[in-house]
Amino acid sequence: MRVDRSAFADGPWSDEPDAYWWTDANSKMPCLVARHPFLGSWRGFVGVSTEHPLHGIAHDRCARPGCNHANQTICEEWFPLALLDAHGGIGFACARGFYIDVPESLGTGGEWWFGFGAHEPDLQPGKTFEFRQARMRYPFPGAGDYRTLSFMRHECGRLAAQLEKLALEWRKVAVP
Ligand SMILES: [Zn+2]
Repeated sequence: MRVDRSAFADGPWSDEPDAYWWTDANSKMPCLVARHPFLGSWRGFVGVSTEHPLHGIAHDRCARPGCNHANQTICEEWFPLALLDAHGGIGFACARGFYIDVPESLGTGGEWWFGFGAHEPDLQPGKTFEFRQARMRYPFPGAGDYRTLSFMRHECGRLAAQLEKLALEWRKVAVP
């Protein structure tokens, strides 16, 4: 997971690694923070085990038990992205091997990962002048704050706590 930093200026990211992972002490859920390969901003991921009610459910699909999807408006309230809150919103969900590089030592391999990221308007150190010239529709970096590893670690912990609470409360959900 090496990131080419040759286009980055110096900043808070200079002293940070390109990936950091741990097991959340409270929920025991594996957490991963990985730097975007060219934007340079962080993305955060929390993995849930196969027993978790949201395991295998895409971030923008209905998780409601027994739902027949007859009422799409209700379904949207049951999307993982609506049930969970993390910086910038839950952007995707996937198994190991898709989209993210999960270290072999992290988790059991069967986890389903929910991810979020420090995207616009956050500062992304890989958005150089040349990058901006090619993509003028993006605002310049610096409009927002750089979200540090420390910030993202905290967000992962907050997401893990939500996922744990949701699993504990799931049995109370009325099946239609
Ligand atoms: Zn539904």
